[in-house]
Amino acid sequence: MLARHRGPSPPVVDATRVGPYLRLVVVDHARAPCPHTAPMIGIADPEQAETDLSAGSLRCPGCAGALRPWGHARARTVRDLGATTVALRPRRARCDACRSTHVLPAVVAPRRVDTTAVIGAAVQASAAGTGYRRIAAELDRPLSTVRRWIRAVRDPTHVAWLRAQAVAWIARVDRDVISGLAPQHSALADALTALAAAAVTLRGRIVPHVRPWTVIGQITNGRLVGPPAPS
Ligand SMILES: [Zn+2]
Repeated sequence: MLARHRGPSPPVVDATRVGPYLRLVVVDHARAPCPHTAPMIGIADPEQAETDLSAGSLRCPGCAGALRPWGHARARTVRDLGATTVALRPRRARCDACRSTHVLPAVVAPRRVDTTAVIGAAVQASAAGTGYRRIAAELDRPLSTVRRWIRAVRDPTHVAWLRAQAVAWIARVDRDVISGLAPQHSALADALTALAAAAVTLRGRIVPHVRPWTVIGQITNGRLVGPPAPS
């Protein structure tokens, strides 16, 4: 939740002036997994990030200086639904003022090899009562991988954090959506419903061209199923 962020408050900007950047907070997770409570860049649209970075309108979380393009993190390939693969080159940025470097959130968490769409499909199926084996077979992923995702996502603290991210993003765009969220049969289903509502709301108002699971990946900072797996 936002109140758990430590350190100086990040600049809060008006969505209508800066497109998708409802709130600019940055974390450097180039090397180490960061805790949920660490400040992060909240970006709903990964492509717009490139444009805004070039224009100098992304702000450093430490000092609010302008972030500039600073090469890329190591390129890697991740697996999307089915047999599709996606090539990623996470963008690195450096602050003009304090010289600290940051890696912008990508469509997947550091060190995970599947996109949020794949992991999200597994989580959604589990929340609906489908067993590990059937999920693994349907997604063509190892049983051990699916089990690891589902166990991680069901951590109560993490489930609460997911819902809080969703509600915070909805609140920036349309508070009425929050009161319309129907209670579900479990905390995880509540969180997924809130994330889906956030994706629908953000796509409807701000980022219509971004895939729903990509929006969810971005607003959860690539942590749909918790911190990245250790390398
Ligand atoms: Zn700085």
